[in-house]
Amino acid sequence: MQTKPLSACSGPRSVESVPMSSLENKVAVVTGAGRGIGRAIAHRFASEGAKVAVLSYSEANSQAVADEINAAHPGAAAGYAVDVASSEATAAFGKAVVADLGAPSILVNNAGITRDGLCMRMKEEDWDIVLDTNLKGAFNMVKALQRPLLKAGAGRIINISSVIGLIGNAGQANYAASKAGLIGLTKSLAREFSSRGVTSNAIAPGFISTDMTNELSEELREGILGTVPLKRFGEVEEIASAALFLAGEDAGYITGQTLAVDGGMVM
Ligand code: NAP
Repeated sequence: MQTKPLSACSGPRSVESVPMSSLENKVAVVTGAGRGIGRAIAHRFASEGAKVAVLSYSEANSQAVADEINAAHPGAAAGYAVDVASSEATAAFGKAVVADLGAPSILVNNAGITRDGLCMRMKEEDWDIVLDTNLKGAFNMVKALQRPLLKAGAGRIINISSVIGLIGNAGQANYAASKAGLIGLTKSLAREFSSRGVTSNAIAPGFISTDMTNELSEELREGILGTVPLKRFGEVEEIASAALFLAGEDAGYITGQTLAVDGGMVM
């Protein structure tokens, strides 16, 4: 039987053509990049040659991270204060970013919040703000950037979900619903945008050391570690590595998937 040499396949790139930096000439948008996981993704993408729009709720945080990146990679980042829950704010950002950095081909929906409490006692406003930020925020960003993403030819959408979206958690009905919703959004976008070469995938982090998890009590942390086969919290760089893979050329045949990066917590 005759087989084609790997280098003749139209999909994966050949070893000889591996570029120095995998995101050279790409413009990436990362929400919730003022701290934690989003900040690590923004730094990693910039170090791989991308121009990065650093979004956060507060101007101080987005600007600080953009400044850090520009200090290492001059001109690689711009900071934006955008409330992703506001469709007016995301639409205005969608116009501004094209003028400032160029047309984005990579969108990472990472902005997220928690307002924990048992469902029976949860206030409607705590339900609404979590769903509006974590789920509608991603929808708003896709709407704001759909034109450049679809035009890019090989656009990438990466939604930061959570293991809690896969297994649920007592006291996090709003958060779990938003993160499970993101997985449904991810799969639907994968189907809708596939004809234009855009992939849509989710990452489901387990417990990662950030401001969000630093608030947990020692007792809770011990309890969580008991459920993690690798017996440690994850690091933000480990989520950034997964995001970089999904954003790159090598992940071109992966779409509609949820990649758990959780030390084996959910399997
Ligand atoms: P974090 O440290 O609390 O940072 C959250 C980021 O989201 C901040 O930059 C914040 O802006 C931004 N943000 C919040 N509300 C926003 C809004 N309405 N509009 C725009 N930006 C907004 O969070 P993290 O721990 O890095 O988590 C990042 C993502 O990973 C979240 O979606 C989270 O649910 C998910 N995740 C985290 C873990 C974990 O263990 N840490 C596990 C699973 C999933 P400011 O900087 O201006 O406040």
